[in-house]
Amino acid sequence: MADRYLHFTGTPPGRFLTRRLGLPRPAPLRRFGPAATDLGGPVILRTAGRSALDGPLPLDEPVTPDGRDGTAGTAGTEAEAPRPAAVVLDATGVAGVADLAGVHSALHPLMRSLAPGGRIVVVGARPSADDHHQAAAQQALEGFTRSLAKETGGGRTANLVRLTSPDPAAAASTLRFLLSPKSAYVSGQVLELTGTAPAAAADPARPLAGRTALVTGAARGIGAAVAEVLARDGARVICLDVPGAGADLERTADALDGTALPLDITTGDAADRIVAALPGGELDVLVHNAGITRDRRLANMSADRWSQVLDVNLAAVLDTTDALLKRGAVRRGGSVVATASIAGIAGNTGQTNYAASKAGVIGLVRSLAPRAAAAHGVTVNAVAPGFIETRMTAAVPLFIREAGRRMNSLAQGGLPVDVAEATAYLADPASGAVNGQVLRVCGQSLLGA
Ligand code: NAD
Repeated sequence: MADRYLHFTGTPPGRFLTRRLGLPRPAPLRRFGPAATDLGGPVILRTAGRSALDGPLPLDEPVTPDGRDGTAGTAGTEAEAPRPAAVVLDATGVAGVADLAGVHSALHPLMRSLAPGGRIVVVGARPSADDHHQAAAQQALEGFTRSLAKETGGGRTANLVRLTSPDPAAAASTLRFLLSPKSAYVSGQVLELTGTAPAAAADPARPLAGRTALVTGAARGIGAAVAEVLARDGARVICLDVPGAGADLERTADALDGTALPLDITTGDAADRIVAALPGGELDVLVHNAGITRDRRLANMSADRWSQVLDVNLAAVLDTTDALLKRGAVRRGGSVVATASIAGIAGNTGQTNYAASKAGVIGLVRSLAPRAAAAHGVTVNAVAPGFIETRMTAAVPLFIREAGRRMNSLAQGGLPVDVAEATAYLADPASGAVNGQVLRVCGQSLLGA
């Protein structure tokens, strides 16, 4: 269902009316594609105080050198420079309230010049359990970044990346994602990176080359986009969906030279049939995307509606993950990406079953991630989509649909490709330091944290 309001606000009468009436003014987002492979402008690196990192942050883009004292340039030099497309603030050394002044002085002068669609990435450290001054200052960065994401407008985003070690290389794939058009609908988020990161692939444009991915619920919507993006990144993709999805599933798989696997993920022998369909019985990327809704308030919800949702959205995710990991069918360096939802974080009227299942996915990810990394060398993360324009949300009544679209900092719904890009970032072998994370792809929805 097209977002006509977004189109209207891009026209001269639309601009006039929305300004006069104080209505939301969504900016068209610049997404990754042949004509938009990067942000199209300079990336500025700033430091608040002294960096706590062992070396410089790894940035692919040209970097405007930073005066290491955390102060910004003069107004004159800022005005002459081309408009920055992004600013990265190294705030890892912020260890007390006084250091927060360096955050203000580093970013304040840039706020009026950051290009529309620009990115702000704050890199911090994990709040300390032993030093409450450091913890207060580092936690302050979260409130700061989330507020900046809400006020910056113009399709700009702001996100916080926390490093748990002084090795800046751990942030490489995350910075590459956040500083690209691939993260257009990711804003106001906090990602915590643990451990170290393996080197990036030989061909960064095809980080999944030679790898096998399985995507459940791939016949349409978000799953079809995930399959497409993983194939673009070089993966051989097996597209799984219910036998009833028939022609849609064939079409998706054919378009990306993949394999169609018609299978209901809740059937008892699903894991056996998946393994039988994998070349060599192994895969590198397992994406649990299949999901259903059966909405009713609890007072009106039958036990059937309850269990259908829990079976598809949670039990099948647990069972398939367990079975594949137990057999060693997920190769070392691989990844599991499950699909949660902001409903699993914030809750939603009429969705006790759905929200329970999606919150369950978050519980699974947080608990399994460290053990899967230790035992199998596999990362486990989740994407948590907000309002995404798919057949699932097209079925939502008009008023609620319109509210869902606008109630986020970017004032628009996301597209399936936004979730797909986030999934591909988590599946990238270079993202080994990203584990146990729940990445919301929601334009900083007002629902939930
Ligand atoms: P969709 O209904 O368009 O697609 C879901 C796909 O999963 C369908 O092709 C369906 O046939 C398949 N599927 C359902 N049950 C299955 C089963 N038992 N075995 C195999 N395949 C099965 O939904 P979507 O909007 O693309 O959502 C994809 C995922 O994202 C779901 O997990 C959903 O809960 C989640 N999500 C979507 C949104 C959104 O706004 N669209 C928001 C948050 C989370």
